[in-house]
Amino acid sequence: MKPQRSYCMWVFVLAIVICAIVFFTSVLPTLPGHDPHTEAYCSSGMRSLWIAIDLYADSNAGNLPALSQWCTSITNYIIMEDLRCPLDKVGPCSYAINKNLPGTIDEIPEDMVVFFESTPGWNQVGGLELAVTDRHKGLHEKTFHVLFADGTVRWIPAEEISLLRWKINKE
Ligand SMILES: [Zn+2]
Repeated sequence: MKPQRSYCMWVFVLAIVICAIVFFTSVLPTLPGHDPHTEAYCSSGMRSLWIAIDLYADSNAGNLPALSQWCTSITNYIIMEDLRCPLDKVGPCSYAINKNLPGTIDEIPEDMVVFFESTPGWNQVGGLELAVTDRHKGLHEKTFHVLFADGTVRWIPAEEISLLRWKINKE
């Protein structure tokens, strides 16, 4: 009796292990927005945007490009793939620049929003109205990537969008 019971238990454990393997290798990667690779690709692209803006400023006495031409201005410092989130099927650029940025890179407070995930386009300048918060899904139903002036990309739940520093002067 005893050996048979432990045999059943092992079959049960084996079945659970097989189900887990199938779930993690086949089902999980197909769930929309649950792809760590895509998220890493998106945030590393945004870091490249910041590096490109920094290089542009270095070559232009610390000045930021004209915001209405920001994509066009940094094309020499970036590869086109980095301008696009892998979950954006339209492109060519999946990000917008904050319309309230000052003229020079040194004037931007470290916690101020520089780039954020936006509707697809080119040279997009704006604020909350352009933000796309449902491209990625995290623990929250709606999350999106934001790059701050300290060079970090953070994963922001949509409901916190208005709490971010969008302007130089805090109100
Ligand atoms: Zn993205």
